[in-house]
Amino acid sequence: MMHPPSETLLAHASGHLDRALRVVLEAHLDHCAACRAEVAAVSAPGGWALGALPRLPAPDALWTKLAARLDSAPAADPIPASVPLPLAARRELVPGGRVRWWRPLLRGARLAVLDRDDERGVALAVAHMPGGRVFPRHRHLGFEHAVVLAGGYEDERGAFVAGDFAIYEPGSEHGPHTLDGDDCWILFRLEGRVRFRGWRGALQRLIA
Ligand SMILES: [Zn+2]
Repeated sequence: MMHPPSETLLAHASGHLDRALRVVLEAHLDHCAACRAEVAAVSAPGGWALGALPRLPAPDALWTKLAARLDSAPAADPIPASVPLPLAARRELVPGGRVRWWRPLLRGARLAVLDRDDERGVALAVAHMPGGRVFPRHRHLGFEHAVVLAGGYEDERGAFVAGDFAIYEPGSEHGPHTLDGDDCWILFRLEGRVRFRGWRGALQRLIA
């Protein structure tokens, strides 16, 4: 299995990842006992340190806020159950409206943005594609962090199947195709834009 780097696991344990990356990482952790153990190991010293702190009464405002949250009706999970997104990853998402699927000019493919941070230019999205299909070749202008939720795909770096964590650096380019057989589901966090090659690139420039 392809794992996230240790520094990403440490940043997760210490609460330093943005929401999109937390969701992607939780999706990997659901598949990977080794990384779950590593997160638990790096979290333990922080827990002991917190436990050793002198106990202070919680501010009144905290109880008011908690009570308000408990009073409000629980928001419905906006992501359909048919999306193979693990529960821990769903929990990280802010409940929003209905998921809107966008169908690019590809047979049977669909994409939905689950979370967006316009200030930082970060988007979290899920893609669904039948097996044995080619995704257009493209170049990443920023980082992409991705986890395969189901099925798999292959590109110049090899084959990625359920649970695999992939990082594409800014400037990297690839032409993935989904593996034959099961439908492929990918959860990914994008920083910045993606440039398509070929006629789709020309179309993108025309629209932009
Ligand atoms: Zn792992």
